Amino acid sequence: MSLNVAALRQQFPILSREIDGKPLIYLDNAATTQKPQAVLDAIIDYYTTCNANVHRGAHQLSDEATRRYESARDTVARFINAGAREEVIWTRGTTEAINLVANGLAQLLQAGDEVMVTEMEHHANLVTWQQACKHSGATLKVVPINERGELDETAFESMLNPATRLVAMPHVSNALGTVNPIQTLTAKAKAAGAWVLIDGAQGIAHGDVDVQAIGCDFYAFSGHKLYGPTGIGVLWGRRSVLADWPVWLVGGEMIQEVTYQDATWGELPNRLEAGTPDIAGAIGLAAALDWFMALDQKAIQTHEKALLASAHAQAEEFDGLQIIGTAKNKIGVMSFMLDGAHPADVGFILDRQGIAIRTGDNCAQPLMKKLGIPGTARASFSIYNTMDEVDALFSALRKARKMLA
Ligand code: PMP
Repeated sequence: MSLNVAALRQQFPILSREIDGKPLIYLDNAATTQKPQAVLDAIIDYYTTCNANVHRGAHQLSDEATRRYESARDTVARFINAGAREEVIWTRGTTEAINLVANGLAQLLQAGDEVMVTEMEHHANLVTWQQACKHSGATLKVVPINERGELDETAFESMLNPATRLVAMPHVSNALGTVNPIQTLTAKAKAAGAWVLIDGAQGIAHGDVDVQAIGCDFYAFSGHKLYGPTGIGVLWGRRSVLADWPVWLVGGEMIQEVTYQDATWGELPNRLEAGTPDIAGAIGLAAALDWFMALDQKAIQTHEKALLASAHAQAEEFDGLQIIGTAKNKIGVMSFMLDGAHPADVGFILDRQGIAIRTGDNCAQPLMKKLGIPGTARASFSIYNTMDEVDALFSALRKARKMLA
């Protein structure tokens, strides 16, 4: 069955907005997705009916808040097929989730150890490891990509060695749209004895993520890229790894016993969750996942593929437009350059026509440098975008080309 996009759009109040009198065409979904009414309602309902701190109150409101908050953890665990609910650690987002792992790793690394990332990293999955290496004397290795923006799997394999402590790579590249063969690569890295972290910030929004099938040790993602609120994210980690992972954030909630001189840590998941969490965010994210899981997943994927295919087909016919990232397995985003035009100018002209895209370095400066470009314009698609909106993007680009010629 095909996706009823018109009905779906009705559930997103913001999509009926106008920008300077023009209907909003929101094509910046890789930056953040819009939120359906179900998510807005869940957040308002929480604050309206049972706002309280969790885990600590001796009163009914706190019990109710704790129940909703912990049930949100169950929802996430189901969504990614975690082996246990304690494997789901709340964070502020992908960035914080990766920081949690990297700061723990920094306490384990020694000179001579290696950490491997790829040339297509978002800064969140690069600077974190770079700093962990810098502070411990370990070496950061960077796996190259080919001209289509795909990982060089031969290099990946040959760079793995007994000194490799951890491999971090994106599920899907935010700048190029490349979908990495994470299951195969994880198996290779695990065979070499390394921990594996997948940056799932982009991958999570596009369908079935089964952390057990992937075989990784950590999978990090943000709620806001998956129709949930900002400020909430998840680090999934294999229980046997998380149980001993050196803690990073310390304070209330995560301890077992505290004296003036020392402290011991509690059990998972609390030991990695210091302080009052984003309770409303967790509840909002669970609402987003429930909402998302109720949709026809096959129909969603078919629709998203069709949007990207249409964008690519039109881009290939478009004189002077260069697509950045042409991996065989690609999803969600189309980065591009218009000959002779700075991406920021393209973004500005599109915005005047109500079309929201991203421009700039895509939080991937080293990648842009490698590609020899200042940045890109990037259109990214979600389940509520329509074929008409893709067509509108290209009419707007034709105008932009005329204005910038
Ligand atoms: N990694 C990738 C691939 C991303 O696209 C993003 C968000 N642009 C992040 C990490 C960081 O996510 P957040 O800002 O939500 O922490």
